[in-house]
Amino acid sequence: MDHEELKEKYTVLQKQLAQVGYICNGTVMSVYRKCGKPNCSCKDNPKMQHGPYHIWTRKEKGKTVTRSLSKKQADRCSEYMDNFKEMENIMEEVKEISIQIIEQAKNS
Ligand SMILES: [Zn+2]
Repeated sequence: MDHEELKEKYTVLQKQLAQVGYICNGTVMSVYRKCGKPNCSCKDNPKMQHGPYHIWTRKEKGKTVTRSLSKKQADRCSEYMDNFKEMENIMEEVKEISIQIIEQAKNS
C-alpha cells in the first residue's frame, strides 16, 4: 500500500474505533456454590447448589479486583469486554499501518 492508501485505511479504522462503545477488561464467570447451611440440599447434591453467581475479575493497577454482578450487569460486562477485544483488533491494525508509514519515510 502506498502512503495515500494507508492514510485512507487509517481514516476508516479511526471511524471504527470511535464507534466501538463502552469497554471493560477482565473475565466474567458464572459459578454455583454451596451455602454452608447444614440442612440445605446443596450440601450433598451438586445440582442443588445456589447460583449462578456472576463473578467479574479484572486487573487494576496490577491488583486483582473481584466483583459480584447481577445477570444484567454480567451481560453488560460481557458486551463491553467484546468491545474491548474489537478495539484491540482495530488498534493492532492501526499499529501495522503506523509501522508501514514509518518504514516508507525512509525513502522520502
Ligand atoms: Zn444451600
